[in-house]
Amino acid sequence: MALLAPTRAEEAIAELLDGPEGRVAVLAGGTDLLLDLEEGKGAPEVLLSLHRLPWRELRWGREHLEVGATLPLAELERDPELARRIPGLLEAVGAVGGFALRNQATLGGNLVRASPVSDLIPILLALECEVGILGSTGERTIPLEKFLLGPRRTVLARGELVRRVVIPTLPSAFRWQRVRPANDVSQISVAVARTPDGEHWRIATAGVAPLARRARTAEALLRGRSPPEELMVSAAAGAAEEAGVRADKRATDTYRRQLLRTLVLRAIRAVPVGPTGDAG
Ligand SMILES: Cc1cc2nc3c(=O)[nH]c(=O)nc-3n(C[C@H](O)[C@H](O)[C@H](O)COP(=O)(O)OP(=O)(O)OC[C@H]3O[C@@H](n4cnc5c(N)ncnc54)[C@H](O)[C@@H]3O)c2cc1C
Repeated sequence: MALLAPTRAEEAIAELLDGPEGRVAVLAGGTDLLLDLEEGKGAPEVLLSLHRLPWRELRWGREHLEVGATLPLAELERDPELARRIPGLLEAVGAVGGFALRNQATLGGNLVRASPVSDLIPILLALECEVGILGSTGERTIPLEKFLLGPRRTVLARGELVRRVVIPTLPSAFRWQRVRPANDVSQISVAVARTPDGEHWRIATAGVAPLARRARTAEALLRGRSPPEELMVSAAAGAAEEAGVRADKRATDTYRRQLLRTLVLRAIRAVPVGPTGDAG
């Protein structure tokens, strides 16, 4: 297997388009891909590493954070502004594996993997982030909800790469549950975000259905910066109902539904009441 590490995006895209499908595998942090290859999933001739592309960037705007696809999660986590401006994202990034893993793993890799138990997808859905996709004809931007098609399936076409993720700075919170916190993936994770005017709340759940999803009926119950306790309880119960809960080897459906209700309620309560960052 050859290892290529181009320094220009055009070279990377040309390589992806060269030869038959499956010849090239894209390598970012490698925390998912290398395990797949070890297990015999795929036999690429070329590993196309993205690590020399100038994409490890993190840029704050007035109302957005732009994260380059190959920025290691640990660098995002260390950013001094993150706790104040997008608290839910900091909580979610901190939940991904251990510190050594986060030194390697990237946001782009997490989204393209599109795992049902990803800790980053629910918070990014709740924040309504957008994904910048680069191909041979330039860059297009689409909402994350449209980018994801199912487990391990996205809209990325052959010759396309995730270039960046654009994340609104919003009051937000993330809660998760797992059996062994240090080295398991989450059984359930939930994320809640609120628009600065308090008009709209967004709730996303993961680990209960084939892919993370928004709980729109429950969202519609919440209004204002500090909704009354009974509305929070109803919204949490509603989110647990519309999450599409299923049982699997990690937990039963009854346990998951109860857990969802509790975690959504905790996340709603944890969203900062005051404005966060410049958006508020
Ligand atoms: C021990 C362990 C614990 C883990 N714990 C968690 C956890 O708690 N929570 C969680 O959410 N995840 C967890 N993961 C999963 C994993 O670490 C994340 O999904 C990680 O963010 C993947 O990023 P990466 O850069 O390593 O991707 P890679 O492994 O390099 O790539 C993953 C996939 O995305 C493709 N890809 C990568 N970057 C791009 C790009 N820019 N454009 C197009 N395609 C691209 C690759 O071709 C590959 O198919 C864990 C994994 C391990 C091994």
